[in-house]
Order: sequence, then C-alpha cells, then structure tokens
Amino acid sequence: MVKFPRFEARYPSPMRIVRFSPALADPVLDLGKDPLFGVLGDGSIAVITGDPLYSGVKPTGQVVPLAQVRLLAPVLPRSKVVCIGKNYADHAKEMGGEVPEEPIIFLKPNTSVIGPDDTIAWPAMSDRVDFEGELAIVIGRICKDVPKERAHDVIFGYTIGNDVTARDLQKKDGQWTRAKGFDTFCPLGPWIETDFIPRDQKITTTLNGEVKQSARLSDMINNVPDIIHFVTQVMTLLPGDVILTGTPAGIGPMPERASVTVSIEGLGELTNKVSIHG
Ligand code: MG
Repeated sequence: MVKFPRFEARYPSPMRIVRFSPALADPVLDLGKDPLFGVLGDGSIAVITGDPLYSGVKPTGQVVPLAQVRLLAPVLPRSKVVCIGKNYADHAKEMGGEVPEEPIIFLKPNTSVIGPDDTIAWPAMSDRVDFEGELAIVIGRICKDVPKERAHDVIFGYTIGNDVTARDLQKKDGQWTRAKGFDTFCPLGPWIETDFIPRDQKITTTLNGEVKQSARLSDMINNVPDIIHFVTQVMTLLPGDVILTGTPAGIGPMPERASVTVSIEGLGELTNKVSIHG
C-alpha cells in the first residue's frame, strides 16, 4: 500500500540549491546574518525566501556573487543521516568481509554535519581518522514503505558526502555510533542538484591531490531505489533527511592538516581540511 501522496513537481527545471552565509557579502546588500538559501547560477546566487524543502523556490530578486559568500552544508538533516555500509563489493573485500545479504544501515547524528571547506576536527579519542567519499541522497518528503518504482518521487536531489570514520574506534567498539558520530564527521555539499540521476558517473576521492578512491556509481550493490525501499521499511524519512549510499574501495587515513576532496561527475566537488590531532 502506498502511504504517501505523489511528490509534487514543484521544481520543474534543474537547479543547484545552495545554503550560504552572507557574512562575506557586501554589507550594503543588507542580507542579515542568518543562513540563506539560493539557486546557483553562473558565478552568482539568486536568493530565495525560506527553505526550499518546505516552501518551494521563491526568488527574492536579490542576487549575490558566489565569491562573496561562504557556502554551508546545503541541507541540515531534519532528524538523521542514514548510512549504508559495504555497498561496493571491492570495499566489502578490503574490510575483510563478504558482501552482506541485506544492506547494513547505521546512523550519523545531524550534529555531525559540516559544509564545504569546514574543518574536520580530529578527536583526541582516536588515532586514525579515515575519509569515505559517498553519494548523498536528500529526501524531499515524509515517506514510509516506499516501493522501488516510487523511490524517485521522494528524492529532493543529490549532493556529495564524506562518511568520516574513526577507524580504530569502529574496530574497538564493534558498533559504529562513536566512530561515525563525532561532530564534523559528516561533510556535505557543495550544493543540491535537483535533477541528478545516478547512472555510471565517476566518484573520486583525493587526499592532498592524490587519487585514493575511484569508482562508478553503477558499482553500487544496492542502487538508490533499493536503498530507499529498504530504509523506509525500517524508519520514516523526513524532508531534509540524508542517506549516504556507501563508499568504494580505497579508504584510508587522513594525516593532520590534510585536504580531502570528494568529487562526483555532475555534482561538483566537496573539499574539507583535517585539523591537527585533538
Ligand atoms: Mg560509509
């Protein structure tokens, strides 16, 4: 039984939705200090009213140069970041395991989310902090028990995520809440693409410019409809919830002050720096 109405076509054209702080903008624009949402154009942002997840896209008429703002995580998950573990066969193998029979899911708290260029804070408790580049789904409406063929009706868009992991604590604890849940351990961004369709796009993670992960989204074991169908049999998803879809092979530690970039064809690049060991 379908338990949600059809997703309204509120966003008829492809859009890149950004959330930003106008702190760097020219003060004469008088935009105030609260984060704003906008639609990214060619080097500029058309400011919109409110949050597009709830109120659609209504331009205010103001336009801000991209170079004069600081981009923030494009979404603050309303309740949770759901993550899929071992969703690429080569990564399951490098972790010393088989491909799981069913998707493995876990949560990151929404307090772990940071935006592009924010610093990943290396916690004192850990001696090894790893990157995991991943495709991130942004949910557009409340939903439960979504059939695979309706999965795209509940998606607002896609962005890039980094499922930062304290690998030593993950092994030590046996379950992953601490290892995956530190503040700053979920970089998201740089924007949400509303009409992205995952196919065979390349996903790449570089560490200080060196390629560490390189795969295709088509290498996922469970694709996006599989994931949404599975997760929503367990829990209700809310607008603004995020699903990280798993990482390819090549995971590894990040040294102090490293720069890590996750890029996905069609979605852009997400870069963050690592702090010194806390
Ligand atoms: Mg992961």
